Amino acid sequence: RGTTPEPPDVRPRLTVLSGPSGVGKSTVVAHMRKEHPEVWLSVSATTRKPRPGEKHGVQYFFVSDEEMDKLIANGELLEWAEFAGNRYGTPRQAVLEHLESGVPVLLEIDLQGARQVRESMPDGRLVFLAPPSWEELVRRLTGRGTEPPEVIAHRLDAAKIELAAEPEFDETLVNTSVEDVARELLALMDVV
Ligand code: 5GP
Repeated sequence: RGTTPEPPDVRPRLTVLSGPSGVGKSTVVAHMRKEHPEVWLSVSATTRKPRPGEKHGVQYFFVSDEEMDKLIANGELLEWAEFAGNRYGTPRQAVLEHLESGVPVLLEIDLQGARQVRESMPDGRLVFLAPPSWEELVRRLTGRGTEPPEVIAHRLDAAKIELAAEPEFDETLVNTSVEDVARELLALMDVV
């Protein structure tokens, strides 16, 4: 027997973390990555402008509308969606390459994107991050309290619709504590 490494017997399943806006997906993912950098987080393309501190190629690939049109037209995105006036999409090739080489891959995307992954990669594992309670989600969405009441009312209506998507998912994790949820997510992904 040689020492050439065998390709992985089992290709890891793609894992998608989704859930209502404001539920804390990105906080959970950031915590998990700090502890487990071996999980590969897909970097999405977006037409949204970078926020202070965000870097091209790290949080997102920041692209123009024209570039996004091309990515979509050329079939380079595994899924894409419009969210709050901007488009977001997952570059397909990098996801497939990581899975082929046995690396666990995580997507952190909105619900519309999760539904598309369900169609295009039916063996993917869809994980819904739920708030500990409706009251807690309201508290997070109303947050700073600087928005006009009609904006807040709109967000709460949207959140109700988003919460109703839970049964479409394979697993639900309740965001009681960042540490607990990150650990549960890793366990679902068979990492440790
Ligand atoms: P933000 O602009 O706050 O970074 O992200 C807004 C929303 O877009 C979040 O719900 C985030 O999960 C979602 N999102 C980020 N990247 C993608 C993507 O590639 N595809 C989809 N469908 N949603 C994404």
